[in-house]
Amino acid sequence: MTVDMIQFDDRGLVPAIIQDVNTRTVLMLAYMNKESLEKTLATGLTWFYSRSRNRLWQKGETSGHIQQVKSIHYDCDADTLLVEVEQTGPACHEGTYSCFSRRIETAAIPVDETNGSQPADERPAAVVLQELYEVIIGRKTNRKEGSYTNYLFDKGQDKILKKVGEEAAETIIASKNQSKSEILYEMADLWYHCLVLLGYHNITPAELLEELQGRRK
Ligand code: AMP
Ligand code: ZN
Ligand code: ZN
Ligand code: ZN
Repeated sequence: MTVDMIQFDDRGLVPAIIQDVNTRTVLMLAYMNKESLEKTLATGLTWFYSRSRNRLWQKGETSGHIQQVKSIHYDCDADTLLVEVEQTGPACHEGTYSCFSRRIETAAIPVDETNGSQPADERPAAVVLQELYEVIIGRKTNRKEGSYTNYLFDKGQDKILKKVGEEAAETIIASKNQSKSEILYEMADLWYHCLVLLGYHNITPAELLEELQGRRK
């Protein structure tokens, strides 16, 4: 691809859809001008043009939540970019993993949480963890009636840490009981609370899995 093939609009901008290469989640939409696209191509990190601030910005320049570019596609009429990235931390400056965490609901479009999703045991574990993490981190900014995750974030770090400790102890007891069903139940609780703790620190499961993978010789 050469930058000259891209059809910039009359303001000299092209919209760039940013997608997580691992989870396929659409993370954000931002605009690039010729210069920011060139910087993106040269550095392998995303650079955009801010219409409100009238300047180039590198995603993550202040937050550290940078995006490593894995591929760039352009559409049939070359007026839109699709950028696949390895995302560090949340993509949205409001702290959610994706900018698209607010849903428009209407009777004609019923909410079906299971829509299009395969059973958990047929899907990569990383995707299952990531999806749960997205729900958890969404609760940091959006309240839901009766949400236990909201309650944990309201109480703060000490409460979350206490729960991690409790569930770890219950997992130990379940194991001593030689009970598979108890182990499944308690370890699921433990993993959930660990994900809440990650969310508290804005660390993604992808970063944790990278750490694990990096230890293999
Ligand atoms: P960051 O690029 O994460 O260091 O954030 C720096 C600034 O860029 C923020 O204060 C926002 O103004 C803007 N920004 C960052 N991420 C987004 C996003 N996903 N959508 C819109 N603006 C963003
Ligand atoms: Zn197009
Ligand atoms: Zn956002
Ligand atoms: Zn946004």
